[in-house]
Amino acid sequence: MKHEFIQKVTNWSNFPVVEKEMKSEDSVNKIREFILTRNELIARGNGRCYGDASLGEHIFSAKRLNKFISFDRLNGIIECESGVLLSDILEIIVPQGYFLYVTPGTKFISVGGAIASDVHGKNHHAEGCFSEYVIEFDIINERGDVLKCSRDGNAELFWATIGGMGLTGIILSAKIKLKNIETAYIRQESIKAENLDEVFRLFEESEDWTYNVAWIDCLQKGKNVGRSLLMRGEHALKAELPAKLQNNALRLKKKFSPMVPFHFPGFILNAFTVKIFNLLYYNKQQSKEVKNFIDYEKFFYPLDAVQDWNKIYGKKGFIQYQMVIPKENGKESMRKILETIAASGNGSFLAVLKLFGKNNPMAYNSFPFEGYTLALDFKINSKLPQLVNQLDDIVEAYGGRIYLSKDSMSRPSLTNYLQNVRNPKFVSLQQKRIGNY
Ligand SMILES: Cc1cc2nc3c(=O)[nH]c(=O)nc-3n(C[C@H](O)[C@H](O)[C@H](O)COP(=O)(O)OP(=O)(O)OC[C@H]3O[C@@H](n4cnc5c(N)ncnc54)[C@H](O)[C@@H]3O)c2cc1C
Repeated sequence: MKHEFIQKVTNWSNFPVVEKEMKSEDSVNKIREFILTRNELIARGNGRCYGDASLGEHIFSAKRLNKFISFDRLNGIIECESGVLLSDILEIIVPQGYFLYVTPGTKFISVGGAIASDVHGKNHHAEGCFSEYVIEFDIINERGDVLKCSRDGNAELFWATIGGMGLTGIILSAKIKLKNIETAYIRQESIKAENLDEVFRLFEESEDWTYNVAWIDCLQKGKNVGRSLLMRGEHALKAELPAKLQNNALRLKKKFSPMVPFHFPGFILNAFTVKIFNLLYYNKQQSKEVKNFIDYEKFFYPLDAVQDWNKIYGKKGFIQYQMVIPKENGKESMRKILETIAASGNGSFLAVLKLFGKNNPMAYNSFPFEGYTLALDFKINSKLPQLVNQLDDIVEAYGGRIYLSKDSMSRPSLTNYLQNVRNPKFVSLQQKRIGNY
């Protein structure tokens, strides 16, 4: 069959770029027809995964599944189609005194993508993954049947789909439980850590904070390895806000977000510029500790402030590399990882360290388990596969694994952990690369 919707498609890291059929529909009948007339198809939300997880021979884009179904203000439950973005949900719920229990580092992801990757935030140790707050969802399977899935109904499909990377069908809509907030602000403490020992100690001391994250300067060597800024936060109560923020405490002013207009030439981002960036970032805070109130956008989504920031890596793109390592091996493995990166000269602009809490054993396809997780960005260049191989060696030796939503080139032994998802109808390029089909 000849398909008229063949186009170039790529996800957030602009690597890989493929030419495949991508189509969007907004009615169940049309989606069913799409499923029944294609083989090897995969759902795509907003393409914010970094690699090839939402690329396939045939791609169903959930963009037109963008409608809200209901909002129960009394009980804090929202129901919407799967292509609705978290940013759209926040616009509606924050002024009403609600927030998402779990949100990743960008709000521009779809509800379908949040369930399929079972995304985590800065609060995994305290509040788990996105799925903890999914009450139910509707999914259309390989035969075109629409099934309502929850912990009590079609529970097997419910749990296989959580973190199942789109391999069990197309999620059509979902009902989600929301969190009460009094204000749109976060009470934040930002602490400078001089090295890895200090930042690990700070993580342990901060376990009773809801949100914790550390940004690491990954080009430091010797006694400075692990130099970082740890940010911890809580949703601010109205009474504790400074007086000027107390009026309209649930409404933020609209902000201008600059845009990167084109792909930067490849040479602009190099070891030198990454070093300068890291130096400025670490030193933007003069004192050891700063306590303040910041709005939720700045706390949860600092990267969203610059639209299309992925273009700074140039046309060849970049990869994100995110692993989790069991807690007991955390410090030793992170030291080796950071030393390997510093020695390679292939610096990462962003290196974000978080602590995961215990996993929910029912959600067996979810990436997180109790341990430390580090996310790194690397520009594509000829030396990168060698660095990835070295990092994979360390992750493997310490019993870790790689987040499928970020993976583009890691070895299958670190990425083939999904269960009960094999289905010849729903196949991503990622699973083919890993060798699961
Ligand atoms: C700046 C940035 C920061 C990030 N920070 C985090 C973070 O802190 N924590 C975290 O967990 N992730 C993080 N991510 C990754 C991102 O949250 C996930 O990759 C998320 O799944 C992307 O959702 P999406 O809607 O863009 O889906 P896509 O990227 O299009 O797809 C992701 C996966 O979901 C599947 N999928 C999408 N829609 C559906 C559907 N309707 N039905 C069935 N399957 C579907 C796809 O097949 C694919 O396997 C970050 C990404 C970026 C760009």
